Amino acid sequence: MTLEKKVHLIQAMNRSNILNLIRLEGPISKRAVAKRIQVSPTTVNSIVSDLMREGFVKEKGVGYSTGGRKPVLYTFDPDVNFVIAVSLSNSSIRIASLNLNGDIKEIKTHATEKRQGRAYIELFLNALTLFVEHLEDLSRCVGISIIAPGVVDAKRGVIKYNARLALFEVGIKKLVEETFGITTFLDNDTHSFVIAERYFGADAYRNLLYITVGEGVGSGILVNGEIYRGHSGSSGEIGHMAVVQGGAPCSCGNKGCLENYVSWPTIHSKIVSALLTQGVETSISAHIDGDFNSITPELFVEAVEEGDPLSMQLIEEMAEYLSVAIVNAVHLLNPEAVVLSGELVQGNETLLALVREKVSRRALPSVGANVGIHMTSLRGDIEMLGALSVLLQEEMHVGRYSRL
Ligand SMILES: [Zn+2]
Repeated sequence: MTLEKKVHLIQAMNRSNILNLIRLEGPISKRAVAKRIQVSPTTVNSIVSDLMREGFVKEKGVGYSTGGRKPVLYTFDPDVNFVIAVSLSNSSIRIASLNLNGDIKEIKTHATEKRQGRAYIELFLNALTLFVEHLEDLSRCVGISIIAPGVVDAKRGVIKYNARLALFEVGIKKLVEETFGITTFLDNDTHSFVIAERYFGADAYRNLLYITVGEGVGSGILVNGEIYRGHSGSSGEIGHMAVVQGGAPCSCGNKGCLENYVSWPTIHSKIVSALLTQGVETSISAHIDGDFNSITPELFVEAVEEGDPLSMQLIEEMAEYLSVAIVNAVHLLNPEAVVLSGELVQGNETLLALVREKVSRRALPSVGANVGIHMTSLRGDIEMLGALSVLLQEEMHVGRYSRL
């Protein structure tokens, strides 16, 4: 490393440490900051001035004096700057502006209506153009942060592989930066939830397996506080872990993949075929007026919590397949926690209890006894928090050099 690079790295670390400290422990004086992170008062002075000029930090009152003038206190200001967050998914494109605490100021949703490939990208660019055009003071926009399902190369900002959206090697970052002239970030959706869990969640885990169950099944792995991306960015494809030997054929070419047993399209079609069969005991038919499209994950989770017999049977099967995959994964990774999220999991205490019980019964005692299985503690719009967290980590280095 050249001397110049070393100096640059140290400056970035100091900046991130100072910003983190003010964000978490402010209002705080410059003197206290210098003492806590062991840097010179001159360095703190110059970095705090930069952060104030850029709108990240503001003065807030004065502290006690132990003699002499009372020190000015500084606090994090989430409202001056904002982020444009984008969630690309199979069914919709959602764009929002958020402050740096994740409060949504404005959000727009566009249905994708089964668009794929070039048509999908065109819809995305048109929607983003409309959104950006009516925003005031773009100079306060810290960046555009985009999350997408599938295999993503976060470093290059490229969607490498998404069969359902027919997106292969699409350079989203370059495309957006060239169109709008705003620094842009791209990451896999589940990876972004892992970063959000660390940034906004109740526990800042350093070694974590995060699993989402909804339209598809995805996972993210945190190792020593950093996302484990693997050799080419496709780590965490737990949805394609085979849980049934010689089972149902999967779009990936393999058979018996987890995704085909626990994702919403599978559960939905199982409910529909049960409703079409005589003699199945369920309360779901009473809620849908014959319209199978009105069976939503929320309705299913509610039916589970009410003890509906059909839903209980399906949830038992889901828990069985999920726990097989979780046991395999925790034996391999030995995380401190497994966090579950997604529309089929959130609010589903029955599923959580079943998975806990099955994992602890099957895992090696030394592993099973030491891994907590929890529901995500994130509240609100997890996708938008995910996109914001990607930017906070990359642009402001929040959480990169110090534990939050
Ligand atoms: Zn598969």
